[in-house]
Amino acid sequence: MSVKESVEAKCPSCGEESSTTIWRSMNVTQDPDDKELLLAGTANVFRCPKCQYESMLDIDFLYHDMERKFCVQYYPYERLADDGFLANFTTDGGPAIAVPEGMKVKPGMEYLTHPHIVFEMGELVRYVAFRDRLVDLDAETGGRQRP
Ligand SMILES: [Zn+2]
Repeated sequence: MSVKESVEAKCPSCGEESSTTIWRSMNVTQDPDDKELLLAGTANVFRCPKCQYESMLDIDFLYHDMERKFCVQYYPYERLADDGFLANFTTDGGPAIAVPEGMKVKPGMEYLTHPHIVFEMGELVRYVAFRDRLVDLDAETGGRQRP
C-alpha cells in the first residue's frame, strides 16, 4: 500500500498556507494510478496555489514494485552530512542492519532488503524507466540474448 499524508505547509515565497501531500512510499503494484503521478514529476513537490512557487520536498521516499521485484529508495542528499544516517550502511553502500533474527523475509521478497538508492527524485524516475524498459523488452522479444 502507498503511504501518504496531507500536511499544512506555508509557502516560503508568499507565506500562503495550503495543504500539500507528502508521499512516504508508493506501491505501484497495489496502487498503479500513483505511478502516473510519480512519472509526471509531481510527487513530493510543493506548489503554492497563490503564487505558483514550486519546490521539491526533502522527504525519504520508497518506490516499490512487487510484480517486477525491485524497490528504489530516495534520500535527500543533505543526509550525507549525518553520521547517524551513514551508520545504516556498510562501506560498500549496502545495508548495515541485517534482517532481525527470527524475522523471515518472504521468499521472492529478498530484494526489499537491498533497495537501489538514489539522492535525486529525477534519478529515481529514470531508474524506474530503465527497469521497466528491461522488462518490456524481455516481453517484446520473448527473452533477450545476453552477451
Ligand atoms: Zn506562495
